[in-house]
Amino acid sequence: MKKIPRIYCASIATETNTFSPLKTDLKNFKETFYAEPNKHPKTPTLCSAVFPLLRNKKNKGEIELVEGTATWAEPGGLINSQTWNYLKNKILSEIKKEKKLDIVILGLHGAMISRNCIDCEGDLIKSIRNILGTKVIIGITFDPHSHLSKKCLDNTNIITVFKEFPHTDFVETAKHCINLSMKTFYKIIDPQISSFDVKMMTILPTSKEPMRSFVDKIKHLEKNKIALSVSIIHGFMAGDSPDLGAKIIVITNGNKKNGNKLSSQLGMELFSYRNNLAPKTFSANSSIIEAKKLSLKFKRPILIADIWDNPGGGVAGDSTILLKKVISMKLKKVAVGSIWDPLAVKKCHAVGENAVIDLSFGSKISPLAGGTIKKKVLVKKIVKKAYQKFGSSLVPMGDCACIVFDNIEIILNSNRCQAFSTDIFTNLGINFSEKKILIIKSTNHFYNSFNSHVSNIIYASVNGIYPNNPKKNKYSRLKRKIWPIFSKPHIINY
Ligand SMILES: [Zn+2]
Repeated sequence: MKKIPRIYCASIATETNTFSPLKTDLKNFKETFYAEPNKHPKTPTLCSAVFPLLRNKKNKGEIELVEGTATWAEPGGLINSQTWNYLKNKILSEIKKEKKLDIVILGLHGAMISRNCIDCEGDLIKSIRNILGTKVIIGITFDPHSHLSKKCLDNTNIITVFKEFPHTDFVETAKHCINLSMKTFYKIIDPQISSFDVKMMTILPTSKEPMRSFVDKIKHLEKNKIALSVSIIHGFMAGDSPDLGAKIIVITNGNKKNGNKLSSQLGMELFSYRNNLAPKTFSANSSIIEAKKLSLKFKRPILIADIWDNPGGGVAGDSTILLKKVISMKLKKVAVGSIWDPLAVKKCHAVGENAVIDLSFGSKISPLAGGTIKKKVLVKKIVKKAYQKFGSSLVPMGDCACIVFDNIEIILNSNRCQAFSTDIFTNLGINFSEKKILIIKSTNHFYNSFNSHVSNIIYASVNGIYPNNPKKNKYSRLKRKIWPIFSKPHIINY
């Protein structure tokens, strides 16, 4: 009988904005998503999609499975030392309890930084390697908004990364990691990881060119078996990491030389697109003026994405800057989804639907977020434990309220989260299709759900808490030269 592998899986994930005034502790993990061993839900979450896939393999008798802890905290500031020690030691003790493991599969994010560790993922993977030795196969999935360290590369057999931004392919990425790890176990492949430092930090939405074609190209390379796997690390500009910036990962079947060549070719091609990768952005003022102008021409709503006040990047998501401009320009038929304010939500829930109250909401974490708004508002709808969808996963928004004044409808949420899909509005009773202007907080994860419902998308670059300019950000750990801080970080090819 064919020997089947014994697999352990776990997931610890968050994205650390080291510049954020918010801090991350165990409560943040427990509030967002926390599953003890064997308690992972049936639905996949962004970084823990390996769990339901592996369970499926176990049910088919293809593997033996040991399910470890899975947790995710909404991106925020530095993780405190006790929390990181606790989570890391929990995973290590779950592994130490097992007599024999053949494969370890981890769903990680790749941008976790704690007070006592600047490379949490590298630290975790190396510790697992030290316990289990070199014969055990370690497969990892990463989010592209991460910092790829040498420790991660040196102690891993398989790395796969979401190719799409929005990350709609998180299940495929997990499947690919599991399949390659299984093939390695059965000695069908001999994976060799090559990487290339692109030396670049910008944002790379794959919903637009040139990234759309670049991602299609790397998918084509995998399909045609030029490489077992090709991934792009985009980097995460709000994390002060020595490994900051874009990287290419190529996994070949026993041919590291070819992998090195391909990763550097792809890396320099990506670098050549550097000035056209980020979307065109508008200032706070010009985005509202532009939206007003366009709303006179088109029937469907104009969408303004407040790309930097995005809780998915570790900030509060409570900026009122764009909303204050809407109020001052007396614009009507506007909906905002959402502004984080748990205290205001509590007050709305206490008074109930259809009550009219004086409410102060928004901008409670930092003076850079526009200032609190004080208004007499109608509490139109309250929802306990609201959710929005993102692909096949459910994103918890906590208790929410929809408030109305001056023909402006606003969602207040109590769990920080960005806008992923149009149901952020419909679940709170807002008929978004009859609005003139929609304002959401998200960099690009909203794109697939909203694009067909709106006539135009305006990317608003509003200066606030988020460190949105690598040239100005005060990185203390970055010692490598990267663009745009240096115009020519690569010595060759000029
Ligand atoms: Zn990401």
